[in-house]
Amino acid sequence: MSELPPVSTRRPVPDDMFGGRLKGSYLLDLEVVGVDEITPHVRLITMASSDLVGFEYTPGQDLLFAFPDGDLTLRRRYTIRRSDPAQGVADFEIELHDGRGPATRWAAKAEVGEHLEAIGPRGGISLRPTATSHLFVIDDSAMPAAFALLEALPAGTPATAFLVTRHGAKSRPAPAGAPASSLLWLNEAEMLEILSDLHPAAGTAAYIFGERHLVRTAEELLIAGGLDRDAVASKAYWRRDQPNASHGEPSWN
Ligand SMILES: Cc1cc2nc3c(=O)[nH]c(=O)nc-3n(C[C@H](O)[C@H](O)[C@H](O)COP(=O)(O)OP(=O)(O)OC[C@H]3O[C@@H](n4cnc5c(N)ncnc54)[C@H](O)[C@@H]3O)c2cc1C
Repeated sequence: MSELPPVSTRRPVPDDMFGGRLKGSYLLDLEVVGVDEITPHVRLITMASSDLVGFEYTPGQDLLFAFPDGDLTLRRRYTIRRSDPAQGVADFEIELHDGRGPATRWAAKAEVGEHLEAIGPRGGISLRPTATSHLFVIDDSAMPAAFALLEALPAGTPATAFLVTRHGAKSRPAPAGAPASSLLWLNEAEMLEILSDLHPAAGTAAYIFGERHLVRTAEELLIAGGLDRDAVASKAYWRRDQPNASHGEPSWN
């Protein structure tokens, strides 16, 4: 790991950038200091920077990275899986999906010493403090977010996670401290079958992140099962057969 520059270059996103939409976020210069294949379809990329020293964010938040793509740079969002703000280090789990966009192509070949620009923290979803139990419905792209949120729950808080994956049960390391019984590894058909017959208890907060169609369907099923719309936090992370837009999310149309 190369030595961090002593002075942070972190600076607020200027008001005239992105039409002021990224107010509260910072421009960051990050260096890859570790690359680990935690499973054949996920690379754990560890980034370090003096810009990350004392960097504040809430579990589940992410960074908007600029990835090289020929002569262009394209932006994609990745969740901060964990961090050590004292050391200025943060981990990201990037799925090497078959679509192979610019982010995936970069991650497949990423090497220690490379630099990426990023903007963050991004994202407004956080744990619902008044909930008496927590329900996650997520796919592979959102496991870093769900696992960071699960690890942030006070010990013993009732929580269940439906982990929709094409890679089988236990296909990546589980969140620290989460009882194995709270994690259900499912394919999409199994998830739909369970949700069609699920009636969440009053006081449950639901978090639904992942592919756009999956998110919409899961949200509809949970609301049909009696969950209050206000108790659902949902976000599309990607859209089948379409690259994400320049703001790092599926296009809005
Ligand atoms: C707030 C937020 C946080 C996120 N955090 C993470 C994270 O921590 N880890 C993570 O791996 N992803 C995460 N994602 C999802 C990731 O940003 C998208 O999957 C993104 O589209 C990947 O960019 P790309 O350049 O590889 O592919 P793109 O250029 O966007 O897409 C190229 C092709 O690949 C397909 N594709 C895109 N993503 C996937 C996928 N996940 N599975 C299968 N096919 C796909 C598209 O449909 C398209 O056909 C997050 C997204 C958001 C909005």
